Amino acid sequence: MAASDIKTTRISKSIIFKSIFLLIVSMSLIIVSGTVFFTQRQLSLIFEWSHNNNSSLLQQASATAHSEMEKFGSTLELLAKTSAIQSMIADTAASYLKSYNISSLFISGETVSLFNREKKMICDNSMLNTSPAAYPIDFSRITPHRPLLSPWYRDENDTPTRAFGTAVTDLSSGDGSLVGNFSSKRLWKIFSEHRIGKNGFLVAINASGEIIYHPNLKKWLSGSHKISELGIQDIDPKTFEIDKATFISLNDGNTYLTNYVYDPNYDLGLFSFQPQAEINKLAMAVITASVIILVASIIALLATAIWLFFILGRPMNSLISHIKQINNGDLDIDEINVGRRDDEIGQLSKAFNTMHGTIKRQICELNAHRNMLEQEVKERTRELEIANAKLDIISRTDELTGLPNRRDMNRTVNNEIGRSERSKKPFCFIFIDIDHFKSINDTYGHSCGDKILREVAHTIRGLLRRYDVLARYGGEEFLTLLPETDLDGAAVVAERFRKQVEEQEFTYADHKIKVTITLGVTRFDPRLGASRSIQTADKALYEGKETGRNRVIIWDPARTTEDDYRAAAIELAEEQKANKQKKNGIK
Ligand code: GH3
Ligand code: MG
Ligand code: MG
Repeated sequence: MAASDIKTTRISKSIIFKSIFLLIVSMSLIIVSGTVFFTQRQLSLIFEWSHNNNSSLLQQASATAHSEMEKFGSTLELLAKTSAIQSMIADTAASYLKSYNISSLFISGETVSLFNREKKMICDNSMLNTSPAAYPIDFSRITPHRPLLSPWYRDENDTPTRAFGTAVTDLSSGDGSLVGNFSSKRLWKIFSEHRIGKNGFLVAINASGEIIYHPNLKKWLSGSHKISELGIQDIDPKTFEIDKATFISLNDGNTYLTNYVYDPNYDLGLFSFQPQAEINKLAMAVITASVIILVASIIALLATAIWLFFILGRPMNSLISHIKQINNGDLDIDEINVGRRDDEIGQLSKAFNTMHGTIKRQICELNAHRNMLEQEVKERTRELEIANAKLDIISRTDELTGLPNRRDMNRTVNNEIGRSERSKKPFCFIFIDIDHFKSINDTYGHSCGDKILREVAHTIRGLLRRYDVLARYGGEEFLTLLPETDLDGAAVVAERFRKQVEEQEFTYADHKIKVTITLGVTRFDPRLGASRSIQTADKALYEGKETGRNRVIIWDPARTTEDDYRAAAIELAEEQKANKQKKNGIK
């Protein structure tokens, strides 16, 4: 396993990270969309609430104005029914009207006048002898029991006012009329007392859009002004309606939450204007609260995510890293430290630490056991090697003489052939056979024969160079290989053997025994090969036996015929083929 695999899980592969990421994304979406929805809902509730609030204030103001005008009409009607008025006598009526009780019913600027049937003024309530008030009212339309109301007009002080006319029924002297003008100043007081929000205000208009009341009396009630001058264009005050929260920009540069109500009975339209800034202030409080909730929620969410990462992600990664290290065979790692946690992660880590300890202990035990086994195997191998070496020596050695045996000699011969090919130097064989050995056995016994075999071998070995090889080739036959030696040299060596054995006296028990050997010498002929070359030595030896024994016969290479070579060539080819097959078979 590559070292990089020990690294903790890549973030892209971490299920914990993905879960936390999904949690953050989904919760953020829920929180953000929830907050946006909640904020929008709150804002529209604020607008709606402000609209409804202003609307009820406006209704209230309108109702108060309505009842004020109604009361004025009723008062006039009641006066018209009094005997002093019905008397139609100027002095009586005038003094009645000027009495404290009656004059206190009217405010300054309001005049009450009594007219006779001919529409001639009989008297009024003015203290001074002023000219009679001019009422824009048609007396012919006044009927009993119902005051007649004039349109709004301006009195001599330029104050919007209107006249109420009531019928005075005097059966003895005929019908007259009592006319009073209602000053809008009565309404100003009412309207100024109604507060719309903190800095809102009311504006009253009549059916033609003329301003009847505005808190800035100086500006808007000196001279006639239209509502359009405030910035509200193209409306019909009688039919104009605002049924939901509506913001209107006025010419003063501000935008107002605007409400409107119209009283058709008294031709009085009422606007309420509440600066948008005030509403915005409320909205800002909601938005601020929403943002605080949003930020707090996201911080809480992130904190939860970080906490989750630390309590889940980190220990899991540490666990994975530990497991990978153990997989890589690195058992000398620290334990996972999870403190006193006893939850799933804590238990998992503790179980892992226990497992790690167990594996470590078992691996130690296994290693000790393996070392012991290895040691044992080494010892056994060594013993086997020694035994094999011994066996090898045994397999190559002749037990009786301690010389290499025939098989070992064949191997030596093959090696020498290779060496000779490389060095281009000849080598020779001497084939040795003890003469009449059978009769030694027969005469002195087999163990005597064995002893003589050993001693002859020892004698010949003693005459050889270090790198010459002497092997026991058959029963009482020996083969000598003389590396880098030509035929003449080999003949000298063979003669030395023959002579030494001939001169040596062998003893067995009390017997003194003389032994001779016959030797065949030949030079290795590469064309004949090893066994056929050895055969020529054997032939020479046979000749020696034939011609009297105790002799050295040299095989003249010229004696080898072409037939011999052909036969040898076929034999060599077959041998090579067999060797090849043997090699392939082994493979
Ligand atoms: P020649 O001169 O023709 O070689 O006569 P020979 O008696 O040596 O004839 P031959 O080679 O036929 O006889 C060899 C004898 O050597 C026969 C066998 O009993 C004897 N011999 C072979 N191996 C051993 C051995 O290991 N120990 C003993 N004691 N005798 C052996
Ligand atoms: Mg023999
Ligand atoms: Mg013999």
